[in-house]
Parts: sequence; structure tokens; C-alpha cells
Amino acid sequence: MHSAKTADAAPPMACASPMAQALVQAAQAAACGEVPVGAVVTGPDGAVLAQAGNLTESAHDASAHAELLAMRAATRALRTTRLQNCVLWVTLEPCPMCAAAAALFRVKRIVFGAYDPKGGGIDHGPRVFQAPGCLHVPEVVGGVRETEAALLLKQFFAARR
Ligand code: ZN
Repeated sequence: MHSAKTADAAPPMACASPMAQALVQAAQAAACGEVPVGAVVTGPDGAVLAQAGNLTESAHDASAHAELLAMRAATRALRTTRLQNCVLWVTLEPCPMCAAAAALFRVKRIVFGAYDPKGGGIDHGPRVFQAPGCLHVPEVVGGVRETEAALLLKQFFAARR
């Protein structure tokens, strides 16, 4: 399985919940030596537009975070610039960069798994969407399948020590 290495438009998959698919992406990222974070973007009809895992190591790109890759792939799939009425599902609270990107992409809602007190940018750190002048504020739902998402990260970092 090498799908963690791509951020291409996803094939139509209806059964699994988007967060379950994001968790699969995260697990695949870990298998490739990437920090296990996975992301899925669903369209207005709920269909999966794109999914991705972290690619920072293999792409030699410190900004190749799962959610950024998935949002880029989703706009390519839609041939649009913005993701109005789309939902970003991600296994970890987005960092400030990805939160700011989600505002630029005009994502309607962000659903994330584990909270990230150190690196998160929504409920922690700069709290991007609460900053004055933030041009678009998505709805945010945190803690969805939090335990599984956090466990993947915990196991990954424990194995590296
Ligand atoms: Zn990020």
C-alpha cells in the first residue's frame, strides 16, 4: 500500500466514515516513516474528494502536512480555488499554518481527532480563527475518534525513542 505517498483525488468510497479514512491515511503515513496524521476532504454531497497522509519526510517538504495536501488535491479535483461547503477531516488538531490555509480555502467545517497542545493552532497556540482579522472562520469540531488518533501518534513516537 503506497497510497500515503499520494495526495491525488480519491476514488469514490462511500462506506467508511471520513474520519476512519483519515485514520487509515495516518497509519499508512506511519508505515512510511511519516508522523501519523491523515486528512480527508469531503464535498457538499459528503463524497470524498481527496485524502492524504503527512509527506514531510519523503517529499523533503516541511510544509507537506496531510491537511494541506488534501485541501490542494480537493480543489484540483473540483477545479475550483476554494472549498466552500466542504469538510476537512484530520486526525490531529491542525497547526497554525494549516488552520490559516483552511481559512484561505474557505473550508466550511473542520473535524479533527486529537488535540495538540504543543503544535495546534485552533484550540491552542495562536488560535488562528479567534484572531482579529481572520477572514473566514470554519465551524470546528474537535475530539472525533480522538483516542485512536492520539494512540497512533503515541505509538509512532514511542517506537522512535
Ligand atoms: Zn499543519
